[in-house]
Amino acid sequence: MSDTPINDFDTLQVHAGTEPDPATGARQVPIYQTTSYVFRDAEHAARLFGLEEVGYIYSRLTNPTVGALQNRMAALEGGAGAVCCSSGHAAQILALFPLMAPGRNVVVSTRLYGGTITQFSQTFKRFGWSARFVDFDDLDAIKAAIDEDTRAVFCETIANPGGYVTDLDAIAPIAAEAGVPLIVDNTTATAYLCRPIDHGATLVVSSMTKYLTGNGTVTGGVIVDSGTFDWSASDKFPSLSQPEPAYHGLNFHKTFGPAAFTFHGIAIGLRDLGMTLNPQAAHYTLMGIETLSLRMAKHIENAQKVAEWLEGHEAVAAVTYPGLDSSPYKDRAKRICPKGAGALFTIKLKGGYDSCVKFVESLKLFSHVANLGDARSLVIHSASTTHRQLTEDQQIAAGAAPDVVRLSIGIEGANDLIADLDQALKAAS
Ligand SMILES: *Cc1c(COP(=O)(O)O)cnc(C)c1O
Repeated sequence: MSDTPINDFDTLQVHAGTEPDPATGARQVPIYQTTSYVFRDAEHAARLFGLEEVGYIYSRLTNPTVGALQNRMAALEGGAGAVCCSSGHAAQILALFPLMAPGRNVVVSTRLYGGTITQFSQTFKRFGWSARFVDFDDLDAIKAAIDEDTRAVFCETIANPGGYVTDLDAIAPIAAEAGVPLIVDNTTATAYLCRPIDHGATLVVSSMTKYLTGNGTVTGGVIVDSGTFDWSASDKFPSLSQPEPAYHGLNFHKTFGPAAFTFHGIAIGLRDLGMTLNPQAAHYTLMGIETLSLRMAKHIENAQKVAEWLEGHEAVAAVTYPGLDSSPYKDRAKRICPKGAGALFTIKLKGGYDSCVKFVESLKLFSHVANLGDARSLVIHSASTTHRQLTEDQQIAAGAAPDVVRLSIGIEGANDLIADLDQALKAAS
């Protein structure tokens, strides 16, 4: 990259974190398909293992292709550093790992991706962790749920299955007051629509599987650290603020300052949990990110058109898109995601559960899949699939009631999408 500072998102998504390959001059980031790296000598190896010198040891920890993606994501989200990993779910575990211990809890929004609700409410228990689910529109309830054992507050920017925007500006001060980090899952907004760090988030996690790669080819995840949280302000985060026995007594915060969380995530998180992103996947994601702003702009334009059309349809009881005047979150969306309210929302069909199933089966251009954020338009009936493990009350709280269908609007022509929805709605009613 040139020496002049680059601030424009469109430029950063193409250039940030990468430069022509020093060995070959290759302009595109090479896929470093290697497990290990030859040490210059024994002294070099020792310095790398001691974290006295930053370099490559073994690809479970670091890899140049993955490193380029980490740098690019940190730049796009406005953070101090990033750690990539094998999936969005891995990113959530890896983000919490340095903060948590048996008996500790996380205060989380009820409006989350179904898989996250299951991970937090069930699998957490096996680590001795727990999650306290709270309506994040109720700020007093968030405050009341935080106690001495709370180690993070967690929510999604635009909550899956869509239609809900979290008031990050109101929640960040509550987490700060309690002395715990705010972790925001930014998967459905991406850094193009919202940079949670600018709204006070400490850590941003994303599934790169969705809009970042943007074409449904890889699973990947990333954690971006703002670098602004003072881990040493209390005794709540000993793995970061005190000598860490898992790394020969290294004090990460003292040694690495704003890069403490990133170094910990790699040197301990990836080393011991092994949720590593492979270089081929990193390459696909780097390719995807080069066009992120162009795709997101088209996703949003299409979502607005399709949502407005659906709202006027006689078979449709409700549309949750926050870009609609009827949405209770319209003003909040303008503040948190000023460029647009994403491309994910749900529709409620007058015909109920049976009509939803028939509708999903009748769509031709929309694919019925468990994914979102693809260039292609996608549909799913959340209650019978992604949110199936939840009780009906949890489904309703998460916005995935049995009479609701989730749409992820792609980048095709809006008129073709509307024609497909029209024929499927006719078939379903
Ligand atoms: C898909 C998704 C995840 C999980 O990501 P994977 O890459 O599938 O593990 C987490 N959060 C949200 C909001 C998602 O949409």
